[in-house]
Amino acid sequence: MESQEVRVDREVRGWGVLHSRFVKVKCPDCEHEQIIFDHPSTVVKCIICGRTIAEPTGGKGNIKAEVLEVVDQIE
Ligand SMILES: [Zn+2]
Repeated sequence: MESQEVRVDREVRGWGVLHSRFVKVKCPDCEHEQIIFDHPSTVVKCIICGRTIAEPTGGKGNIKAEVLEVVDQIE
């Protein structure tokens, strides 16, 4: 049991460090495009119309908009 918890913890950390990224999404309501973190810790809303774009799940976010592209880095 203890070893399993350690493994899960490592996987969670791995997602946070290695697989976190930003994605460009298009709001399904107003078609505004914005870049969001795909592991949001809070609900992300469209900055134009306020529609919920992504919800936190404890891991990869539940993205509720069309993902146009993945953005590895934001300059
Ligand atoms: Zn919108």
